[in-house]
Amino acid sequence: MPSSVQTILKEVFGYNSFRLNQAKIIDHVMDGHDTLVVMPTGGGKSLCYQVPALAMDGLTIVVSPLIALMQDQVNALLQLGVSAATFHSNLSMEESSSINQKLHDGKLKLLYVSPEKLSSEGFIRMLRTYKVSLFAIDEAHCVSTWGNDFRPDYVRLRIIKEQFPNIPVVALTATADSTTQDDILVQLKLSKPKKFINSFERKNITQAVSPGKERLKQIYNFIGKHQGQAGIVYCLSRKGTESLAEKLESRGLQADYYHAGRSAEDRARVQQAFQEDSIDIICATIAFGMGIDKPNIRWVIHYNMPKNLEAYYQEIGRSGRDGAPAEALLFYSWADMSQLSRFITEGNADATFKEIQTAKLERMWQYANAQSCRTNFILNYFGEYRSEGCGHCDNCIYPPQFIDGTTYAKMALSGVIRCHEKLTLQVLMDLLKGSYKQEIRHLALDQIKTFGAGRELPYPHWASYLNQMINLGILRIDLADGSKIKTTPLSKPVLTDELPVSLAQYEKPQVKKEKKIKHEENMDYDSSLFDQLKKWRLGKARVLKVPPYVIMHDRTLKAIAAAKPSDDNQLLNIDGIGKAKLEKFGADILSLVN
Ligand code: ADP
Ligand code: ZN
Repeated sequence: MPSSVQTILKEVFGYNSFRLNQAKIIDHVMDGHDTLVVMPTGGGKSLCYQVPALAMDGLTIVVSPLIALMQDQVNALLQLGVSAATFHSNLSMEESSSINQKLHDGKLKLLYVSPEKLSSEGFIRMLRTYKVSLFAIDEAHCVSTWGNDFRPDYVRLRIIKEQFPNIPVVALTATADSTTQDDILVQLKLSKPKKFINSFERKNITQAVSPGKERLKQIYNFIGKHQGQAGIVYCLSRKGTESLAEKLESRGLQADYYHAGRSAEDRARVQQAFQEDSIDIICATIAFGMGIDKPNIRWVIHYNMPKNLEAYYQEIGRSGRDGAPAEALLFYSWADMSQLSRFITEGNADATFKEIQTAKLERMWQYANAQSCRTNFILNYFGEYRSEGCGHCDNCIYPPQFIDGTTYAKMALSGVIRCHEKLTLQVLMDLLKGSYKQEIRHLALDQIKTFGAGRELPYPHWASYLNQMINLGILRIDLADGSKIKTTPLSKPVLTDELPVSLAQYEKPQVKKEKKIKHEENMDYDSSLFDQLKKWRLGKARVLKVPPYVIMHDRTLKAIAAAKPSDDNQLLNIDGIGKAKLEKFGADILSLVN
């Protein structure tokens, strides 16, 4: 019944149209077929089972790995007037008996459960007494050992098809390469499943990469462009998160830090303040992220390079879930690289695992150094091939210009050779620049012929060019020998003019600086009304004890501040406002607009 599906979309969720593949998936699910949905974060997976849940008779069971995520979803559904609940092991007697009562009365449409709950015998027996119309398995990649986040609990979910072969299952994930996808189908024993795969591309996220020089200055610049917007800075160390948060705070920014070493209360407080929009910036280790459903994170900075592209893409993917523009900035340096590779070699994993991790780290490094479209680099990594540029990464927006770098390469090589391959990158740069730093004098490097040969080139240029020379294989960095710079078989042909060296020019061309990327959501709205609406929303959120975005998204508030509706009907036209929200909040909003 497509019309009723359309009605549910508008009246319950307040949306006017489906996003890519949602309608097809919903049809397929409602026809009773097993389905695998692969969609990037923010693609709109939840609707793919929530709409069928409401359109079909009976109960939909949703399996999800994290209690926090389940509660968030249930809160959001309750705000929409949908009868939903979570069932997990931490419920009080009262809570679970109230759920049982609702189940018994046939009132519940969606029940969220943890995987261990679902696979328990008692629960299965109980389910048999109700009319279940659909099973939805969120984060389905957790069932596969090939996936990014294998969870043994998930393997038991095969019991669903064993016990209820005729009830359709929809499995959903944002991160599964083709091996993992096939494994999900097998592990869950899906019958004649159809896959729906959306591109991994996150069109609303602009990706940029910068060498890790003068990071603070770059961060201040970056944050200056994003004033008052929520963002995360990921750091490698706990200490790093603390000192950065302190620096940002001393500049008057609202920042705090988050890592696994803080007390549970502190972590909960920081997370809550971030969800509530009362802290803008979180400096965090990778411990921060799972369970963050905040849709209006506008930027992510990586102070240090992550260990692989899966982690990187997942972390930047936390921004822009609401589809509005977001920006990611990655810093990288050889220091990060050598620390990460030390973590791998010093860990106690087996040799094969270490080898895979090392290969992944190398791909991460190549990504950071790529001179062509970064999105395509990532898509290729995940098995999606495309050659046309994305238009939303730094290399597409400012294509690098190449220069003849043979002279620079010869200077660097001569320095390396004359100092018997005993210099680190920094000292090599100091030598080329002709610096009189203590270490230079101590090693008597100012006596070497190359001393100061590259004086006219600023440090950041040298950093970039030396890096490129390493990536071109003209020089190499010996991580096993104190990260000293050494020659390679390609060094000699450069010195003898047999191999010319082409380098991407350091400076980005100025003319292209203001090039703007098109985004559909750049609307003109009344910003003081928007601020008032945000204040009102925060008040409501505190009363109802839910995060503000559960009341209404920024996007919806902006649309209100742009359209300034004057009656219920105009309000209903706004994307994100359905009947329940109109009833609950309509009067408040209209009086604010007035
Ligand atoms: P995912 O689980 O794939 O990351 P969600 O289901 O959380 O994505 O959806 C991301 C955001 O997009 C949510 O805020 C959701 O309300 C919104 N959304 C989903 N489908 C639509 C649609 N058809 N129209 C407008 N907004 C949508
Ligand atoms: Zn690109």
